[in-house]
This record gives sequence, C-alpha cells and structure tokens, in this order.
Amino acid sequence: MLSGGVGAARLLRALCDVIDPAQVVAVVNVGDDLVLNGLTICPDLDTITYTLARMNNDDLGWGLRDETWRVMDELAALGGEAWFRLGDRDLATHLYRSQRLNDGATKTEVTAELTQRLGVGVRLLPVTNDQVATEFVTDQGRLTFQEYFVRHHHDVVVSSVEIVGAEEARLSDEARRALEDADRLVIAPSNPLISIDPILRVPGVREILLERREHVVAVSPIIQGAALKGPADRLLRELGHEVSTLGVVDFYEGLVGTWIIDEADAALAEAIRARGVRVEVTTTIMADRANAERLAKVVLS
Ligand code: GDP
Ligand code: CA
Repeated sequence: MLSGGVGAARLLRALCDVIDPAQVVAVVNVGDDLVLNGLTICPDLDTITYTLARMNNDDLGWGLRDETWRVMDELAALGGEAWFRLGDRDLATHLYRSQRLNDGATKTEVTAELTQRLGVGVRLLPVTNDQVATEFVTDQGRLTFQEYFVRHHHDVVVSSVEIVGAEEARLSDEARRALEDADRLVIAPSNPLISIDPILRVPGVREILLERREHVVAVSPIIQGAALKGPADRLLRELGHEVSTLGVVDFYEGLVGTWIIDEADAALAEAIRARGVRVEVTTTIMADRANAERLAKVVLS
C-alpha cells in the first residue's frame, strides 16, 4: 500500500483484521519528516506504527494514547521550540530513531526495529532512505510541511507544493521489490497531493505503477467533494484540480486499474468508467470498524 498517515493507517489496520499482517507491506511517505530539537521525526511512519500497535491517540488524531506532556511544558518554559508537540512517551520513539540514525542505521532499518518491538506485523518501508521535504509556497511565504500544517493549521492560500529532494532520492531496494512483487498494489485513501505524490515522485515508483496498472487499486480520499479531515479538498482547488473524486482520478491518470469510491459518490461511477478503469462502489468511511472491514474485503476482492 502506498501510504500517507491516518487514511492509510486505518485501511492497513482493517486489512490486518481480514488477512495475515505478514502479507501486508506499506511503502510510506517521508515528505513530512523533519528534524526538530535535534530529533528526526517521521509523522506518517509513526502514525501507521502507533495505529497498527493499537497505541494511537484517537482524540488527538496523532501521537500516543495516555500521553503526558512534561517535557514539552518544560521546553516551553525554557523558550524552546515547543509549537510542534511531542508527548513524553512519543519522545522515546524519536530519541530511539535519532540515535540509531546517528549510529549509521538507515530509516528502513530503524523502522523495522521500532515496528518489531511494538509488535506490528505489517512491514513498513519508507519509500527512500534519502531526505525528501514537502514544502508549500503560500501567501505567507515559503513554509515547511509542519509550519504549514501545525503552525498555520493549513489555513493559508497555497500556490504550489514542492517535493524537495524527491527527484534525486533513491527508491529503497526493499520498497522497489515490494512494489514489483506484490500481488496487488493499493493506493491508500491518503492526501493525493502531499502524501501520495511525494512517493510517486521518487524515480521508479510511477514507472512501476504504470507498468502494473492492472494490479493497482485506489481508494478515494474524497467523498462528496470533501476530505474527511485535513486540507486535501482545499489543496485540490487551490492547485487547479477538480474538487471531487474525479479530480483525484485524473491526478492518478494511467496509474490505477480499479477505483473504489464511496457510495455517496455512486453518481460519478459512469464518468470514471468512461476513463477506462473499473469502479467499485462501497462504504469507504472507516470510522466504523465494520465499514472498515467491508472496505478491506473490497480492496482484496
Ligand atoms: P495524514 O498524513 O495523517 O494527513 O493523512 P493521509 O494523507 O493518509 O490522509 C488524509 C486523507 O485521508 C484525507 O483526505 C481524508 O479524507 C482521508 N481519509 C481519512 N480517513 C478516511 C476514511 O476512513 N475513508 C476515506 N475514504 N478517506 C479517509
Ligand atoms: Ca502525513
């Protein structure tokens, strides 16, 4: 599964309820990754890891449950960088990762260690071990990913998104093999412009999907012209795409053999089929566990 954060994490969790997690591999976006207070933080990898370990914080939508904030409070009192909140338990992940990277381990190796220790059966593969940074050109100037998302709550006008470093990044051997060998490739219901595009821009990924299109299934993250959460709908509009599932279908043109769209968008099925792809219509909102399982079965069917 080509994976961003929350949308992907939910579908991966649902798949694990239906098939053996050892059969599932996620190739994960690293464009949100950042270094802050000397620590390397990988938000999408962490969201997926915590969700699959069933340790995620559903109220916040990020981080760990039963979290405390003593370090952040102290850091704020010192006048440090405390706008990007990292809980006390969450910090252990970033300390572990940063130390191992400093020792010379790759992001792929560190991710394998963390997921194994947290009992995650799905294999999580950062798309690349190289640095990729998604940045936003906005009416407030050029912003890093977390400045846009956290500091400005994605409430600024975006004129372009740049995935810095993607074109020079090397697709990891593990991710390449997973994409080439999988029986089925799934594009998660993640933000197309800032979660999936940074994966597609790493040389090799788009080519593999184009070639394996008949095996590619995509789940739309847009339902009735809106994102369930986050700026996907607003970004589609600001960057000149149609704000509907059709806009996402056209964005992934040539890469997808089968689309799974929400029943609320059933009226779009014919227009999507006219583009030469298969369409399945089902409930795609995974807030409800039974719905999530139904969606997972459609993805596998
Ligand atoms: P982030 O990295 O955590 O911001 O998350 P993603 O990029 O993975 O996901 C954000 C997108 O996921 C949004 O456009 C949401 O509409 C979509 N999304 C989240 N949950 C669901 C769901 O249950 N069903 C569907 N179809 N889309 C979802
Ligand atoms: Ca993300």
